[in-house]
Amino acid sequence: MTNTGKIITYQSELDYLSKCILESPRRETGGNLFGLWTPFGIPFIHYVVGPGPKAVHEPTHFRQDFAFLDKNADYLVKEHALHHIGSWHSHHSLGLAEPSSGDTDSTLSGMKECHLPSFILLIGNYRHGKSTVNAFRYDSKGYYVKLKWVVLDGDSPFRKTYDNMHGDLVYEPSGEPCMMPLDACKLADDGQLGRQERPVFAPGYWLSVAENRKEFAAIVKFLKAEFDAVSIFQVDDATVEVRIMDSMVPYKFVFGAAFPKEAPKLLALKSKKPQCSFVPEWTTEGMSLSEAFIHYFKSIRL
Ligand SMILES: [Zn+2]
Repeated sequence: MTNTGKIITYQSELDYLSKCILESPRRETGGNLFGLWTPFGIPFIHYVVGPGPKAVHEPTHFRQDFAFLDKNADYLVKEHALHHIGSWHSHHSLGLAEPSSGDTDSTLSGMKECHLPSFILLIGNYRHGKSTVNAFRYDSKGYYVKLKWVVLDGDSPFRKTYDNMHGDLVYEPSGEPCMMPLDACKLADDGQLGRQERPVFAPGYWLSVAENRKEFAAIVKFLKAEFDAVSIFQVDDATVEVRIMDSMVPYKFVFGAAFPKEAPKLLALKSKKPQCSFVPEWTTEGMSLSEAFIHYFKSIRL
């Protein structure tokens, strides 16, 4: 079994997200996620909050109504001990089904401000009359992974109680839900209730070896000393991307299954074309992997 993490919620909360996404096909919409973490570190969304009356909806930007979020947060914590574990927004009909570099920046800086070790970001999309939603989990080191959905049947036990009690504070989307099949899995399909303190890598992938993880940490440390906005995204169990957002042309290094036999792939973040005028030859001879990377990096001419 290979997966890179899970997220749990109820069908009612996915239906709520779906309705919100479907009613806004051309402008961003969004909201917040309330819930808890299981003892195995899996985020569990119990209740989804929609956009407040003063939220800003633009084609490429959503900003929540903070007074609305605060009031909801007060009640959800006080009455149900549910915490603000993440946020969501829809990239509607845009191609982007994952966080933009701006989304990653603002998520990481928000986490830093609130001293949160983990935070969830859901990105919704509108696709020909149907909705879809992808889940991402950030950690405070700037690492983020895509999560698989564990969907529990039926309604969240908090949905009806809370909506009845605080009808004036609840955003009610119109229409019917229509969610495309999600990237889903079962809670206990690895026999361990999804225990997941560490990212999981495929056997044979370089980061499945402890020694190489130290080398990777040294590479990331080096890049973080050079740039402010460095984040690490685990695409799947044999691909990790290091994204550098604050250079003139945002780009990423992709460490795929062929690494370290081949160089990490250098790609621009906004297009698939490498943006460099000179790429040196990749060699690890006589060097540790981090030394080889740093040597390589310093010879690249963008
Ligand atoms: Zn976004």
